[in-house]
Amino acid sequence: MKRVRVLVFNAALSALDYSVPADMAIDFGHVVRVPLGPRQITGIVWEADRLDGKEVPASKLRPVLEVLPVPPLRKELRRLIEWTADYYCAPLSSVARMALSSSAALKGGGTMTEYRLSGAQPPRMTPQREVAMDALGGEQGTIRELAEIASVSDGVLRGLVSAGVLEPVTVDIDRPYPKARPDFAQPDLSPDQQRAADAFVYAVGERRFRPFLLDGVTGSGKTECYFEAVAAALEAGRQTLVLLPEIALTENFLRRFEQRFGTPPVLWHSSLKATERRRAWRAIASGEAQVIVGARSSLFLPYANLGLIIVDEAHEVSFKQDDGVRYNARDVAVIRARFEQLPVILASATPALESMQLAQAGVYERIELSSRFGGASLPDVELLDLREQAPERGQWLSPRLADAMQERLARGEQSLLFLNRRGYAPLTLCRHCGYRFQCPNCTAWLVEHRFSQRLACHHCGHDVPVPDECPECGTGDCLVACGPGVERIADEVAQRFPDARVAQATSDTLNTPEKIGDFVAAAEAGAIDVIVGTQLVTKGYHFPELTLVGVVDADLGLEGGDLRAGERTYQQIAQVAGRAGRASKPGEVLIQTRHPEAAVIAALAAGDRDAFYEAETLARRDAGAPPFGRWAAIIVSSEDEAEARDAARAIGGSRPAHRDIAILGPAPAPMALLRGRYRYRLLINARRSAQLQRVIREWLDPMEFPASVRVGVDIDPYSFV
Ligand code: ADP
Ligand code: ZN
Repeated sequence: MKRVRVLVFNAALSALDYSVPADMAIDFGHVVRVPLGPRQITGIVWEADRLDGKEVPASKLRPVLEVLPVPPLRKELRRLIEWTADYYCAPLSSVARMALSSSAALKGGGTMTEYRLSGAQPPRMTPQREVAMDALGGEQGTIRELAEIASVSDGVLRGLVSAGVLEPVTVDIDRPYPKARPDFAQPDLSPDQQRAADAFVYAVGERRFRPFLLDGVTGSGKTECYFEAVAAALEAGRQTLVLLPEIALTENFLRRFEQRFGTPPVLWHSSLKATERRRAWRAIASGEAQVIVGARSSLFLPYANLGLIIVDEAHEVSFKQDDGVRYNARDVAVIRARFEQLPVILASATPALESMQLAQAGVYERIELSSRFGGASLPDVELLDLREQAPERGQWLSPRLADAMQERLARGEQSLLFLNRRGYAPLTLCRHCGYRFQCPNCTAWLVEHRFSQRLACHHCGHDVPVPDECPECGTGDCLVACGPGVERIADEVAQRFPDARVAQATSDTLNTPEKIGDFVAAAEAGAIDVIVGTQLVTKGYHFPELTLVGVVDADLGLEGGDLRAGERTYQQIAQVAGRAGRASKPGEVLIQTRHPEAAVIAALAAGDRDAFYEAETLARRDAGAPPFGRWAAIIVSSEDEAEARDAARAIGGSRPAHRDIAILGPAPAPMALLRGRYRYRLLINARRSAQLQRVIREWLDPMEFPASVRVGVDIDPYSFV
């Protein structure tokens, strides 16, 4: 090639042409450094006819500077990137960037220098040096990483290097991963499990696109089944990607994987250290990494040799990314499997309605596991009508639930109380003047965290100490906590059962892999009597002694009434109920509610999943909601309220007229202020047949806005705030 078109990482420019020096071997997908003005930037060589760009006369072209020493992005991945940008109305460069999400890896292999304490003392000790040396202990890492660990500036550490206190260590950046062994510990599968596993194993051998919906009740052994497919991919020398909805779940998964395959898989998530990220990325791109388990961001990585994709807990809403490129990793996983011609397994006990619909339509092959492994029975479910069995004032557990917990304590069994609300109380107000603590940056109340004695915003992270007096009227000792959070429930449990060992399981308490590991080990060992947790404990865990699940407030998720409130509530409660009685002892689930007649709650009580899906399907069809119709949102935001409003109005004013598309708004978003930005929203409801994305692009592309205004498009939105 004499000239190439390069997708550069700059949303405004996107495609630029360059000449190729005579001695440079270059191909599509190569990652290159190119000049832009006085700077150098990174980009990907792309098929010219697939990128808009101006033909530049050959004489004006500047040359590509360098082909970076990483394998070129394969055609299948380039098509996936295009598809994603197109479908989600996102800039191509923003999507492509997700494939190259380790800048260190792009520099190629070789060695690098890390630092560690040498044992020498500095000639001159300063307080900062002392802090750093204490904090570093046996750590080894780059200056940047060590600076973070020690909470000092890079400069302090550089000084320690000059003084010989930190010594350089040359390390290989390509330390290999240990190999997983497909036959390390093979389980005996039940006949049902074997049928599922056989189908998957066969599909891995076929190397063609086959989407499966593994629809198995909680505790049916879905993981064991798809592990057989992983084993088949290992034997075939192909890579497997396992997508999990949350990093919190990976700890548990790693352990199970190691028990089955003799070594942990390769991890990928956003909080990896730069060095871990580089190592994983390079192993993924070279094909050396065999099994990669990760959060949604692992979906766009440049796998050398992908053979299988698994999406576990596929119904989880956290597969939907709500900022940047707003994509749904579950859906894009299926598309990636199609481009790469491989099987993809969506595993869930409570599949999304969209997935069920696709299974019914024959697009997905549904494989059912209808009973729990080892003869365990599904738990009994009972509703506790809070209007009849009200807890005492200032308490949140009804007498019946408290009695059931007492029984478990007496028998040495575990209880789990579920409330999807962190902190002590969701609202704090002044008894004297009625002042309510609100976030200055968001349309949200500040949540009291009694453990850390702070009032915190769960949206932007703003937090302040709990004051002694009301900031409005100055009265002392007048603040009242309204409503319960997990901390408050844990308090109540401690008061009722002073001898019980209570553990809180939320993202506040289980915020590191170590803490999660400790918690799981303690729960499995029976060292915890009562777990009080948020949605973090609703899935993935298997605690044999857990026989009682109490849902503190089943109605919580139904408030606000967004499109998927019913489905989400059903899934969450069915999942948490699924933690009860997974081994030999039967489980019981008590659900506290004020709306026992609501369709979702009634279906949960009756254990009638089909009834729930039917009712939900009818409601969605009537509303033209997914999967029968489609939604999209346009979110306009600015730090300046008037500017956001004007931009939203301008968009509304130039709305296109289409028979198949209804446009609502603009209106202030329910979350009218978020992280200091004022937000307006337009909602679009379209028939399936409408060319939704094209309409939106043709509508928004010609419009111009001040740089301080952000206009985001959310296709198939999950969040309606
Ligand atoms: P699910 O993900 O469907 O809720 P899991 O895969 O977590 O279920 O399985 C539930 C429990 O049963 C786990 O502890 C798992 O190890 C065990 N189990 C499932 N199938 C088998 C099997 N064939 N042999 C041994 N243990 C199994
Ligand atoms: Zn806030």
